Amino acid sequence: MITVTNLKKRFGENIVLNGIDLHVNRGDVLAIIGPSGSGKSTLLRCLNLLEMPDEGIIEIGETKVDVTKMSRKETHLLRQETAMVFQNYNLFKNKTALQNVTESLIVAKKMDKQEAERIGKELLVKVGLKDKIHQYPATLSGGQQQRVGIARALAVNPHAILFDEPTSALDPEWVSEVLQVIKNIAEQNTTMIIVTHEMKFAEEVANRVIFMADGNIVEENEPKEIFHNPKNQRTKQFLKTLE
Ligand code: ADP
Ligand code: MG
Repeated sequence: MITVTNLKKRFGENIVLNGIDLHVNRGDVLAIIGPSGSGKSTLLRCLNLLEMPDEGIIEIGETKVDVTKMSRKETHLLRQETAMVFQNYNLFKNKTALQNVTESLIVAKKMDKQEAERIGKELLVKVGLKDKIHQYPATLSGGQQQRVGIARALAVNPHAILFDEPTSALDPEWVSEVLQVIKNIAEQNTTMIIVTHEMKFAEEVANRVIFMADGNIVEENEPKEIFHNPKNQRTKQFLKTLE
C-alpha cells in the first residue's frame, strides 16, 4: 500500500528526515507522534510531494518512484495517490463548501459538474454538513471548515489520506466533532496517516503508532504498547511531558 525507503530531506544544514523507512498496509490507520520540529509535517508533505524529498523511494498504491529520478508524469501520479488534510484547513475562501469539495474533481479529474456536485453533496452530508453546503468558509466554525477539508480529501478517492494535526488549530469545543468524523472514516477501512497531539484519540483510532524525534523513527508499535509500555527512553520522556 505505502512503502517508503530511506527518505531524506534537509533544509540547508538542517537534516529534517534522516532516512525514514515506513510501511503502511491497506486499511491501516497510522498515528505519528513526536515533539515539535521532529519532522512529522515534512514527512507527510514529502509523501504528497508538497515538499521535494532529496532522496528515497516512495511507493503508494500503483505508483513507485525514486525521488531522485522522478519524471513529471510520475510526480503527477504520486501526488494523486494521497490527499492532505491541513492544520489550517487551506480552504478556498471565495468558494462555497461544495465548490471547495468539487474543485479538484472538476479541474483535475475532469469530471462533469453535475456528477462532481452529486459526489460533493454526498460527502458533505457524510461529514455532517448537510445544511452548510452552499456556505462560504468565513461563515463556518473551525470544526465545520475542517470537516469541509476532510470531505475535500475524500472526494478524490485517494489511496490514503494524510492528516497533519487536523484539530490543533481548533477551539477546544470543536475538537471532538472533527475527531469523530475522522474516526467514522477510519472505521470504513480508509488508509490514513495522522499526525496528532491527541494521544487518547491516537490510541483509540490507530492500529500502529510511530514516535518520531530529530528526523528519525525512534519507536514503532501498537498503540497499547507505545502509550503504556514504551521501550525507548525518548518515547518515555516525550509521553511524560504530556502528562
Ligand atoms: P513537526 O511537524 O514535527 O513539528 P516539521 O516537519 O514542521 O516538524 O519541521 C521539522 C524541521 O524542519 C524544523 O526544524 C523546521 O524548522 C524545518 N522546516 C520545516 N519546513 C521548512 C521549510 N519550508 N524551510 C526551512 N525549514 C523548514
Ligand atoms: Mg507539524
